[in-house]
Amino acid sequence: MQSFDELNLPPQLSRVLKKIGFEKPTKIQSQAIPLLLAERDLMACAETGSGKTGAYLIPMVKALMENPQPQGLVLAPTRELAQLISDFLKTLVQSDRSFPISLLVGGQDIRKQFKSLKSKPRIVIATPGRLIDHLNRKTLKIHKVQHLVLDEGDRMIDMGFAPQLEQILKFLPKHRQTSFFTATLDKKVKSLAEKYLVDPETLLLDEARPVATIKQSVVQVAAKDKDNHIVSELKKRDGSVIVFVKTKRRTDELRKHLFEYGFAVDLIHGGRSQGQRNQAISKFKNGKTRILCATDVAARGIDVPHVQHVINFDLPMQDEDYVHRVGRTARNGAHGEAVSFVSPSEHRQWNRLAKKYEIPGRPLEGSDREESRGKKKGKRPFRFSNQRRKKNSRGQGGQKRSPRA
Ligand code: AMP
Repeated sequence: MQSFDELNLPPQLSRVLKKIGFEKPTKIQSQAIPLLLAERDLMACAETGSGKTGAYLIPMVKALMENPQPQGLVLAPTRELAQLISDFLKTLVQSDRSFPISLLVGGQDIRKQFKSLKSKPRIVIATPGRLIDHLNRKTLKIHKVQHLVLDEGDRMIDMGFAPQLEQILKFLPKHRQTSFFTATLDKKVKSLAEKYLVDPETLLLDEARPVATIKQSVVQVAAKDKDNHIVSELKKRDGSVIVFVKTKRRTDELRKHLFEYGFAVDLIHGGRSQGQRNQAISKFKNGKTRILCATDVAARGIDVPHVQHVINFDLPMQDEDYVHRVGRTARNGAHGEAVSFVSPSEHRQWNRLAKKYEIPGRPLEGSDREESRGKKKGKRPFRFSNQRRKKNSRGQGGQKRSPRA
């Protein structure tokens, strides 16, 4: 499929796609949409940024507009991703009253969700926990679901949702179409997918790697000097920045540190309430905060077109998250920069990432053990001895400055 015009879409759906600038289908869309319209089950390896949401929502909306009986259900691992899917779906159906939709995620007022469910949604977007809550309360029935999507199936497994997904399966009708989207395909993912899919078509797109419009670089820096170095990196750069950090605690500390330096900064991680997360994202989207410190849980759900820089304060726990993280910049063909702070203990992981994702540059040498023994191996620009650090306690970060917007 080369063009959306080939699909015989309902006129209002065609109009919306034109209006939002979807001129040509992306690779995953051109392969997945015809299969889904032919009512096949589908197993697709596709990342955020590939256009996967449109790949399953466009055919689902078409099918449901043409047949008013059945329902659609999309399951997503995180509230942020579910929200993004819901936003895109609202755009597709233009908040059409005859096509109600419901978003069911944890952390939000369940009474509002009861009300929304009374409108008999044609498509429900949910995180597994909240969906089960509604199923148990009998406020939602899913026996009419003809189109089911599991988005980011691999992440669902990582987050421990496999038992919930098996529970949900019991409420679903046997005859339905299911598509399973995942960024990685290992044994666990395959075994979960097999429980859901019947004779699926498999789409293995090329393994995701950062797009060419992202300028990627690495800074070798001792772990203890990252706090100083981030200040100088941020001073050098203009525009919105997402800083990725490995743990919630470090994210809190880093936000405080940057705030003390007067940066307009906020944070998002799994320990914050849904309201706080939404507020942080919306302030970042409208430019009120320039810097957003985030953990990987938050990474997949952010679609802000104007992110100019991604800073990996720490490397991610899982290699695939590197692609998700840097993919927050250079959205839709724009240019962006991604810089990774790599301490000696992260050299080996960086070298692996660089090889896997073909990041230009020479492999890094050295290891954490060498650093702790105090061995000097090569020149490391931001390594201070304890004494020098005391004298120049702000390192490359400069003095604390008065607050700036
Ligand atoms: P996704 O992978 O679904 O999160 O989509 C990533 C981004 O690509 C989103 O901002 C979409 O709006 C955009 N997008 C998806 N499909 C298309 C298309 N066919 N043409 C232009 N932009 C698209």
